Amino acid sequence: KGAIDDCSCSVETIDSFNNLKIYPRLNSLLQQVFFRYWKVNLNKKCPFWEDDGRCAIRYCSVQPCTDVPEGLKGRAVDPDINKSQKEVKSLGSGGCDDENDLGFLNTTLSKESLDDFEKWAAHDSFCYIDDDDSEGSEYVDLLLNPERYTGYTGPSAHRIWRSIYQENCFKPSRNLGPYADFSNIGDMCLEKRAFYRAVSGLHSSINIHLSARYLLSDQNGFDVSAEGIWGHNVGEFQRRFDPELTGGEGPKRLKNLYFLYLLELRALAKAAPYLESQEFYTGNEEDDRDVKRAVTDLLSIVKSFPDHFNEHSMFTGGHQAAKLKEEFREHFRNISRIMDCVGCDKCRLWGKLQITGLGTALKILFSGNFDHPIDQQLNLSAVKQTNFQLSREEVVALFNAFGRLSRSILELENFRQKSQR
Ligand code: FAD
Repeated sequence: KGAIDDCSCSVETIDSFNNLKIYPRLNSLLQQVFFRYWKVNLNKKCPFWEDDGRCAIRYCSVQPCTDVPEGLKGRAVDPDINKSQKEVKSLGSGGCDDENDLGFLNTTLSKESLDDFEKWAAHDSFCYIDDDDSEGSEYVDLLLNPERYTGYTGPSAHRIWRSIYQENCFKPSRNLGPYADFSNIGDMCLEKRAFYRAVSGLHSSINIHLSARYLLSDQNGFDVSAEGIWGHNVGEFQRRFDPELTGGEGPKRLKNLYFLYLLELRALAKAAPYLESQEFYTGNEEDDRDVKRAVTDLLSIVKSFPDHFNEHSMFTGGHQAAKLKEEFREHFRNISRIMDCVGCDKCRLWGKLQITGLGTALKILFSGNFDHPIDQQLNLSAVKQTNFQLSREEVVALFNAFGRLSRSILELENFRQKSQR
């Protein structure tokens, strides 16, 4: 309950805005073909330490995707489409074979412009995004592989979280011990607090999901293909978030979830003109029209929220601010690489997706490239002038990551009701 630190709104305002307006729209949007397939490389080696080995629990595995619509792969391009429309399609809306590089731009820009563009794209990104042509990159059907309890725990999971917090979060200056104590984050500057809050909010969201879709019974008898029974585990939720069981930390961690929600909400509002101009190309005209309409409807609600997170209060003040922003970016990029060390494929998938979504939100908020309203009728020169580019994988990750937070907030209401029974 109550106000959210560093933002000007309350938990109650977000609960009703999210549960009544955002979640129903977003949930239906994320069932659509454009948003349900995501290309990712789950086979990269951990760059920081020897792999702990993969979790062998069956619920850690990711089901392969066999029937990706051809349109998503960029093969079904309408021959009648005029050139400028094609350009728009390649910008984050279709042409998946070349999403993460420059897609259609590759064939139209001079070598010099291409080099400039690539430098820009690498510089402004908050994430290491997989090169989608790399060996091992595959489409995953997100609906077939829901985020839920997997059984991933113990030293491997703790090593990931510890490395994120201890080595890649900014620490309060009074903290001299080997383990960072984030209970006094009030001592840190706004940007460093925001960084910690965002990571902690993501951690809360993951743990809410695993508590809400918990494996309640695995009694499948001899039928190994049978699914277990999944549902809310109130005890698991309380162990993680109850104030008494967590020394008062649980509620703060839940507020960090709301903070992260506001941050991603603001990024969507800020990028709305760009997102509304996309075609969301899958090759099926009717589907594409429906998705475009649904995105515009969702974004109009997003924009109507009265108390948006104010990114302009961050990184102001010349040289020091620029240095801090660079550190912020480097820390976050490291976290995106740590995702390749997660020892459970399902957790790695959702970890990578949510970090990419958050990285995309940070890029929208802080790269400076989204600060000017853009021409709705995007053409190549407008893109060049504004340096405006999101890949399809970033767009899909952004909406799905926000979808995870939105669902977590809805689940809090479910847990509230179940705890009162
Ligand atoms: P952990 O959640 O491992 O937390 C470790 C320590 O961090 C805690 O003891 C506490 O001191 C601190 N902490 C906990 N929460 C917060 C917070 N919100 N903010 C700040 N500090 C906190 N498991 C699944 O079942 N399904 C999944 O999909 C899944 N995805 C994962 C994705 C990633 C990237 C990672 C690293 C782990 C994932 N896990 C998943 C594992 C899960 O997050 C827990 O690590 C695991 O359930 C063990 O929980 P725990 O109680 O030991 O504490």
